[in-house]
Amino acid sequence: MPLPDLFFDPSKCLIGGHWQPASSGDTLDLTNPSDGTHLAAIARGTSADVDAAVAAAHAALAGDWGRATAVERGRILTRIGQLVLEHTDTLAKLEAMDVGKPLTQARNDVIALARYMEFYGGAADKVHGETIPYMDGYTVYTLREPFGVTGHIVPWNYPMQIIGRSVGAALAMGNACVLKPAEEACLTALAFAELAQQAGLPAGALNVVPGLGAEAGAALAGHSDIQHISFTGSVNTGRLVQTAAAQNVVPVTLELGGKSPQLVFADADLDAALPFLVNTGIQNAGQTCSASSRILVERSVYDEVTTRMAAAYQNMRVAPALEDATLGPLISGRQKELVSGFLTKGADLQTAAQGQIITDAPGHYVAPTLFADVPPDHTLAQDEIFGPVQALIPFDSEDEALAIANGTKFGLVASIWSQNGARQMRLAKALKAGQVFLNNYGAGGGVELPFGGTGHSGHGREKGFEALFHFSQLKTVAALHG
Ligand code: NAD
Repeated sequence: MPLPDLFFDPSKCLIGGHWQPASSGDTLDLTNPSDGTHLAAIARGTSADVDAAVAAAHAALAGDWGRATAVERGRILTRIGQLVLEHTDTLAKLEAMDVGKPLTQARNDVIALARYMEFYGGAADKVHGETIPYMDGYTVYTLREPFGVTGHIVPWNYPMQIIGRSVGAALAMGNACVLKPAEEACLTALAFAELAQQAGLPAGALNVVPGLGAEAGAALAGHSDIQHISFTGSVNTGRLVQTAAAQNVVPVTLELGGKSPQLVFADADLDAALPFLVNTGIQNAGQTCSASSRILVERSVYDEVTTRMAAAYQNMRVAPALEDATLGPLISGRQKELVSGFLTKGADLQTAAQGQIITDAPGHYVAPTLFADVPPDHTLAQDEIFGPVQALIPFDSEDEALAIANGTKFGLVASIWSQNGARQMRLAKALKAGQVFLNNYGAGGGVELPFGGTGHSGHGREKGFEALFHFSQLKTVAALHG
């Protein structure tokens, strides 16, 4: 299946408003995870390209972009959002073909990207400093200022959403960005950058250097002339990024993995809970940082929940992204190997149900799998799988549920299914997570809702208004005037 007509050249980097090949002239091949066919050649950016992109970003700050008012920045972001919406069909198809996600999910990601632009476009002129009452004869106030040049390293699983939330907030606050998309999937990153140019974003305010993590990614993370870096990806790479940034004393936002639990109590509305319990675990073939990979169920309703979730799994169909089934393939052969390794490690456990692969296409397909009675210390209950696998774990008391829920290295998202308001409040406070949902999970993605982790899930917050504070810093001005 050929790509739709492109309005950008996928083999180029965007540096200082110009689309140009990598300085080495080298390219990397993007393949379609649904059938293994060649999609496009992308630039294999080098450290020289990252140097040029960082210099272009500084030039933008010294020029039109640095002089743009908050209102002007907001208008540009809003225009980008409009252009994104006008290109919904193309962007959705590109994301589906590049990432392997079902078309409907890819379309939702386009809408989310547009929402980020609308949200941060509207918010750009609503963030301001304060006056501080101080000693007689002084006037003290704060200025909220951009960091300067911000680096953004993003993964392949939700390119549009992650670019929207991090680049959107950084631009709203007046930073100039250098974006390093993932080598496995970066077509929508390039498309977004072209649309941003068309919307009037000044040259150099957003630069994109595709390439390998160990090359372009490492060059950006360790660059001595950036002022902030936002990284979304695996824990191991996050450590490398934070270590590299530390050499330059550059602040870091880390959005890493998770092992997020849903806690189902006997008094829960199971009809309402069921779709959330299942869908939020297998969405995007489980390749979601906030996937609910652990389902903790009070023992008196455990068999019922297991039976009902198993029935949902039996109806799941796995097929190429453009066929828009429940799930598409995994991103790569490597990811399939990793997930298959976990399935092998679960061979001693009870498989409650599996979905069906309904294609012969040579993509990276894995049947979604639900494991029952998983011991809380088992690797399936402790480690991030990043595939369509969920672990059911029974519990006997609220204290036990909390101990299991908090008993991993991660802390990204959690949910509580119960009608008991006091329990909801107790657990919402006690759960180790950046987001807690009461009788829902994910709240539809929530552009407006601050998001981020604790522990090995990372630190810092993106999304919502909070991200605007995160992508800016305060200056205090104290005037002694008598
Ligand atoms: P990854 O860490 O391998 O890659 C992420 C990005 O980092 C890519 O752009 C890659 O090129 C780059 N990179 C790789 N090595 C690098 C290096 N040495 N220096 C600098 N950059 C480097 O992660 P992945 O496997 O692509 O993504 C999956 C992981 O991301 C999962 O653990 C998932 O939970 C996490 N994730 C987290 C969130 C979140 O918001 N918390 C969102 C999506 C994914």
